[in-house]
Formats: sequence, C-alpha cells, structure tokens
Amino acid sequence: MNNNPFENAQRQIDSAAKYSDCDQEIIKVLKEPERVVEVSIPLEMDNGKIRIFKGFRVQHNNYRGPYKGGLRYHPDVNLDEVKALATWMTFKCATVDIPYGGAKGGIAVNPKELSEHELKHLTHGWVNKLFELIGPDTDIPAPDVYTNAQTMSWIMDEYSRISRKHSPAVVTGKPLENEGSLGRDTATAQGAAYVLFEYLKAKSLNPQDITVAIQGFGNAGANMADILFHHKIKILAVADSKATIYNKEGLDPHDLDEYKRKHVSLLGYKKGKEISSQELFKLNVNIIIPAALENVITKDNAKDIKAKCVLEVANGPSTPEADTILTKNGVDVIPDILANAGGVTVSYFEWVQNRSRFYWTQEEIEQKLAQKMSSAFYDIYNFSVNKNITMRQAAYALAINRIGKAVKNRGILN
Ligand code: GLU
Repeated sequence: MNNNPFENAQRQIDSAAKYSDCDQEIIKVLKEPERVVEVSIPLEMDNGKIRIFKGFRVQHNNYRGPYKGGLRYHPDVNLDEVKALATWMTFKCATVDIPYGGAKGGIAVNPKELSEHELKHLTHGWVNKLFELIGPDTDIPAPDVYTNAQTMSWIMDEYSRISRKHSPAVVTGKPLENEGSLGRDTATAQGAAYVLFEYLKAKSLNPQDITVAIQGFGNAGANMADILFHHKIKILAVADSKATIYNKEGLDPHDLDEYKRKHVSLLGYKKGKEISSQELFKLNVNIIIPAALENVITKDNAKDIKAKCVLEVANGPSTPEADTILTKNGVDVIPDILANAGGVTVSYFEWVQNRSRFYWTQEEIEQKLAQKMSSAFYDIYNFSVNKNITMRQAAYALAINRIGKAVKNRGILN
C-alpha cells in the first residue's frame, strides 16, 4: 500500500493530464516543488530546557502569483506531507482562479503540549528562519491544522518587526482586530457548503432529505456541522481525534461544540452512542465529509462506503486506490481542491483588502465567495459530465490548463 501523500498528489496530476490541453513536457514542471526548505528551530521551554523543532516550507509553484498556503502544527508533519499539501495549494488556487501559486509550511510539534508563551516563540522562530522566503509579494502563509488567527497575528508581528514595516499582507487568517477579514474563520466550511448546495441542485436533491457523517471536528468540521444543521441537513455522526459519536435521530452541533469546549474532546458525549472511527465510513448516510487529515479513505475502507457522495473538506483524505474503488461503486467525490478552496479564497480577499487598505462588508465577502465557488463547481461538474471523468480529474485538468498556460507564457521552454 502506498500512502505517501506527495506521490498521491503526483498520481492525481498524471491521471488528469490527458484531459487537459497542456503540453506533456510542462506537466513535468507541475509535478515538482520549486523549493523545499527544512529548518531547525531551537526553543527555550518554560522550564529552561532547550528543545529543537523541525520546521518546513515548501514552495511548489509561483507562475500564477505569489506562493500561498497554510502553516500546520502537528506531531506527524513531515516533508512528504508538506510537499503534497504545497502541490494541492497550487492546483486549488488555479481551480478557483485566484492569482496565487502554492506553498505549505509546518512544524513537527504537538501544540497541545506547549504553553501559549512557548507557541508564540516557536512561531517567531519559524518566521525568523524563513524570513527571506516569505513576504506579501513572495509567499503568504495562513492557518491550517492546529494553527489559528492568533498564530497568524504572531507571524505578522514578527515579520513586521524584522522588516521594520507594518506588513499585514504577509499572512492571512489574522484576527479582525489585526486587519483580518470578515468571514475568514468560517470560509473553508462556508465555501464547501456552497459547493455542496450546487451539487445537490445539479442532482435534483433536496437538502432536507440529506444525512451526513463528518470526520473531524476542528475549525472546518465544526463550522461545516453548524452550517448544514442550519440548512436542516441531518448530522448522524461526527468524529474528532478522540471519539466518534453517532445518533440516528441527528446530532446538535451547538451542543457538541459546547461539550468539546468544556471537555477538550468529544469523548464521553452522552447524547449519542460512541462507535469506532472506522464505523463512521460504513454508515448509511448520503454524504461522508472527511474534514481532518489526509489518507483516511483508503483501499481498505472505500469498499464499505454506502454514501453516494464524499465531500472532501480535508486536504488529501482519499488515496488514488480509494478513488478508483469509489468511482467503480458510483460514489461522487467532490475533490478537496474544489471543496475546501473557500479558505484560500477568503484569504485572497483578506490580502486584497490589506493591500488596498479598504475593508469589505460581510455581505460583500459572502457574495464574492459564493460566486467563486459556484462558478468553479459548474465548470468542473460540466467538464466531468461531458468527458465522463471524475470531478477530481476534471478539476485537475482545468487547473492544469490554467497553470500550464502561465508556465508556457512565461517562457519556461524557451
Ligand atoms: N490551509 C488552508 C488550505 O489548505 C488555507 C490556505 C490559505 O488560506 O492560504 O487551503
């Protein structure tokens, strides 16, 4: 079994290349990151001891605009994962047609074990080590797994301090008080919900008849649950890293949220029964929503999926082997590079606002996000129907066309 996420990303590109108009020679350029950087960050812990953390930034491609992508704090962060995530960012930005390339960063750390003070200095250390590589016109980080608006504010502060320039546009996903954008915190889920509603419309399905299971209850998963509940979609199961909760009558995300805030995880939640994390994928629901980490739908559990749709809110949740099985079984996969592109789309809006120093209303953000997501959805959906290919292949083929043209116009082959 091959679950190397970077190789999976390369296979996804290969599987779509023949449906694009791109010269096969240029495809080679799109499969490799342009720059891969690993740094060691020494941190003086609160107890006076020094620990060394590994930090990464991978810049995949910047032919369509500055490198763009999140910063992940997780104990399992490694180079192949960051390379995959950076690759997906390039294709994601092209999918929703925003003028960015792709990048990703990470630190191999369990942030739950660090104090606020330690986390702040670790974040400053990452900026310090990578200062020359990031910047408002070069590479713009953002939140990802276990980083948040506070982390972004620390990045802006350290970058501004070193450069002696107030530099809000060096990072997106900042707090509102620090020139963040309205709607950024819920943007990933909101964008995925817009895509889902267009999909249901295209399939003539009524949201009120739909049931879902959500794997992951962080920023994206919890906000997704909230939005779907509001639209009367029944949430039969949710999982976080510690527990999976099922209730055939439906779960109330507000109540789950409150419980998680109090108890840190969903473990012990009583208004539903606890099932194993693998049982979630076997449930009789209409849609499975992976909203946490990569490689959760594999060749081992794909065959058990009864849902007719997988909405990939996480990055890289399905392996290529799983994709083949799902396609054979008639399951529609709404691919990550479309489904979760709402986050980076509102990041782009934040960056535009920072640079123009003029701030938009909530309504303006929502309307612009909805427009971006639904037009990307229809381009991909129609292309996949016309060519009889999966939505992932369609999304990659259309993105390859855009990136490939940018590469060619800039003269890589000259
Ligand atoms: N980490 C998010 C993603 O994977 C957001 C990236 C961004 O806003 O730059 O899409």
